[in-house]
Amino acid sequence: MPAIGVPSRLGRPIGRVTSSPGNLPPPLLPMLYTWFKRRRRRRLLNEAFPDEWMLYLDKAVRFYPQLTPEDQRRLRDDLRVFIAEKHWVGCNGLEVNDEMRVVIAAYACLLILRKSIDVYNRLDTILVYPDSYLALESAFPRSEPVPIGWRHGESWSHGSIVLSWNTTVDNIRDDEGENLVLHEFAHQLDMSDRFADGVPRLGSRQQYHTWKEIMAAEYEQLYDDARSGRPTLLDQYGLSDEAEFFAVATECFFLRGEEMEERHPRLYEILTEFYELDTAKMF
Ligand SMILES: [Zn+2]
Repeated sequence: MPAIGVPSRLGRPIGRVTSSPGNLPPPLLPMLYTWFKRRRRRRLLNEAFPDEWMLYLDKAVRFYPQLTPEDQRRLRDDLRVFIAEKHWVGCNGLEVNDEMRVVIAAYACLLILRKSIDVYNRLDTILVYPDSYLALESAFPRSEPVPIGWRHGESWSHGSIVLSWNTTVDNIRDDEGENLVLHEFAHQLDMSDRFADGVPRLGSRQQYHTWKEIMAAEYEQLYDDARSGRPTLLDQYGLSDEAEFFAVATECFFLRGEEMEERHPRLYEILTEFYELDTAKMF
């Protein structure tokens, strides 16, 4: 499935101020940017939530009706800010519509329901393909990109995410423990400290220690189960590397919380602590 890395062609500077306000000294620019951003968000959230967007949420976002009214409001607010502040690009002739934006943003914002929307500040562009697509990569900087295989999605550390809309819809409809949007945005959280290593930004040295110890043990268990042919709750694609393990564990945490709590209690516990959500009880 998806890969991670640094985009050579699609990225653009994050948080770039496109018009410079005259000769203000440099330290004022970030302050002004923050001030404008807050004001823009306040105005946006003062507007009524579009009725059609509610329909998309109810229809396509499985977890939404199960949230408390307060969490639903928080998700709607985050989702509106997310949609407004990111660049949405349709690829291979696809025109990105509101339903696509709402569904993708809802799953992206579910991951950060207890965090700030600013966790996604480094993400700038969402590229949406109609279906799986032929990915291109350059072997060296400035070299001609060459096809490297078909993909459903990608998550890049320098500002972009790529998603197949058909895969997104299929995952939601089939509800079989996979969700491309949760997967790719989990990579974004992982890379919030700039490293795609399966370890997102945590609060303390002790948390880093516990995280690495539990993730390594769970990874090993998945490896042993896979090698022995035992059925696994976690997608064995997680054996690709530590980053993929965190991404598939996140999918499982949100889509199979109850089973994960029962079969992988320590993994469930550190993910509950990280996301600050008790998905086994919520969904
Ligand atoms: Zn991945």
